[in-house]
Amino acid sequence: MGLAIVVPCLNEEPSLRRLAGRLRRTLREITEDFEVVLVDDGSTDGTLTVMRELAADDPRFRYVALSRNFGKEAAMLAGLRHAEADVVGIMDADLQNPPELLAQMVKLLDDGYDQVVARRDGKGMSWPRALVTRAFYRVANRMVDVELRDGIGDFRILSAKAVEALLSLEEINRFSKGLFSWIGFDTAVIDYHNVWREDGRSKWSFGKLVDYAVDGVVSFNNKPLRLAIYLGALFTLLAFGYAGWVLADAVVNGNAVPGYVTLMCGVAVFGGIQLVILGVIGEYLGRIYLETKRRPHFVVKENGPPRSSGALP
Ligand code: UDP
Ligand code: MG
Repeated sequence: MGLAIVVPCLNEEPSLRRLAGRLRRTLREITEDFEVVLVDDGSTDGTLTVMRELAADDPRFRYVALSRNFGKEAAMLAGLRHAEADVVGIMDADLQNPPELLAQMVKLLDDGYDQVVARRDGKGMSWPRALVTRAFYRVANRMVDVELRDGIGDFRILSAKAVEALLSLEEINRFSKGLFSWIGFDTAVIDYHNVWREDGRSKWSFGKLVDYAVDGVVSFNNKPLRLAIYLGALFTLLAFGYAGWVLADAVVNGNAVPGYVTLMCGVAVFGGIQLVILGVIGEYLGRIYLETKRRPHFVVKENGPPRSSGALP
């Protein structure tokens, strides 16, 4: 059985060598026929240099360097496309995904599962982040048709069938948590303790997380648009009711001029709602625009020797 491990890396110079050592040790015990596909997602430190060295030392290590930072989703896709083995695993470079778990995961795959995912517990997360995470899953699960679970990230192993299914999804805006869930298949879950990041910094800022949450909701269905319709209908109803009342007041009581306060409130409320709804529509429109351009997901700058070429000593 061929096994490929895809590792997206952005500025992971401090941990990459250690990760490579641990990967080599664990993978050797699983199968001799493994490859590691390191993806450099436009790092600005020495990550690419380390990758070149690793690939030169061990032909089972290959790398793909992207021309700039395309984001983790694109980096993972690049790795999946370049992996030659049937079974493909995906993990982070920062040692937060313990490579030692891979043995158990592969075993479950052999038992007939097509996806095996590792779920970390929430320990070691800063509290604002834990809060955002929890809120994210609560909102996302209500809005999204596929099921998303806390602690389940991209650390997983996929069978050949699952990889093929994943690669057949060509959308530009990739929300991988949703994609993994969308392709379906029998999925096994393994739990592990969260590990603190030892070197470097998490590339996720607070703002990025919020963006990610919006992405998760918008890229998977059009419920926000539906919500806009309901909201619009509700307020139209209220507005007609109120208009009737104002009209009656004017005709019956002769109260035509007062009403500056209600006027201003009305203008403000409806202005706000309209802007939000316009934003929702714009968000979808923007996505349609991006998708119609059919641009590639990433651009490759440099490519470590493919395994089949036999270019290495
Ligand atoms: N990563 C990447 N491109 C990016 C951001 C992150 O390839 O634009 C990689 C990063 O090098 C790491 C993994 O994705 O291997 C997860 O990133 P990080 O540890 O920053 O995320 P967290 O674990 O905090 O969710
Ligand atoms: Mg991390």
